[in-house]
Amino acid sequence: MSSLTIHTIKVPNPFFEGRNAVYVIEADPITIIDTGVATEKAWGILVDGLEKIQVPLESIRRIILTHKHIDHIGNAWRIHQRSDAEVFIHESEVRFVQEVDPSSERYAELVASRLDEWSIPAAKRPSRQSKPPPWLIEACPAKPLVDGQELPIGDQAIEVMHTPGHTFGSICLRLENSLFSGDHVLPGISPNIGGGDLRHRGLLSKYLESLERIRGLDRVGLTTLPGHGNPMRDKLAERCDRLISHHDKRLGEVLEILASSGTQTVYEVAEQLFGEMEDFHVILGCAEGQAHLDLLVDREQVTEQDGGYALV
Ligand SMILES: [Zn+2]
Ligand SMILES: [Zn+2]
Repeated sequence: MSSLTIHTIKVPNPFFEGRNAVYVIEADPITIIDTGVATEKAWGILVDGLEKIQVPLESIRRIILTHKHIDHIGNAWRIHQRSDAEVFIHESEVRFVQEVDPSSERYAELVASRLDEWSIPAAKRPSRQSKPPPWLIEACPAKPLVDGQELPIGDQAIEVMHTPGHTFGSICLRLENSLFSGDHVLPGISPNIGGGDLRHRGLLSKYLESLERIRGLDRVGLTTLPGHGNPMRDKLAERCDRLISHHDKRLGEVLEILASSGTQTVYEVAEQLFGEMEDFHVILGCAEGQAHLDLLVDREQVTEQDGGYALV
């Protein structure tokens, strides 16, 4: 019999993926996986949730973050401040915890650097006012995780699996019959690939490889605990297959667009994939289009010249 109890606290955020699932593993050391978005409201709900399950904030010893997004790392610093818990994140994303960007300035610069690359028309460029209000976040020390690392808990261990794709440093965590899948595998929605990490190119091929790898963990009795939405029991392979076929279909759509329209910019491809895009969806749509075009270039089905993409 296992001595581990896993609690879930659902924390609201302003994004379309829906509430964040924060997991609390009641074992030695008391471990929390992901922390919700950096707002006063989310923090209040997280603190109430901990009170309900009678896990004092101060008793948390370890915080593991599945990836760098604000709705996952948001409250790590506050928990650390109150409990002195160690904070862990993949080695490639440590700096997003240690050097935070509360007013999203660095992110806005990154977006701006892509507007020309994607050939987004001036009228379609998102306005600066549309950025979120400053996040309630401060820097805190974080320790690096690498693929294959094991973190002891009770008489078990949490195994770290590096699953790049949604972000470059996304990880999944395996513990007994549970797989904490972060935003790598979600029920019902396909995570945006490309828009989740504008610093890296080629994330779609990494994402598909990571899905194949995670799919291999499928077995009877395995419960997938995602970063948003409800647990999925015995559904891992089925869900991975759905996500893989979703991207196969989209790759086919991109090829059809180029076959019928000739050379296209990233923006033109995204517009044909997603229809009229407004505000920040222009960025997400273009990033997703770029990720699919990158993979087709890798497969030598598409060539790129001066920002235009065409069939080989
Ligand atoms: Zn995410
Ligand atoms: Zn998320």
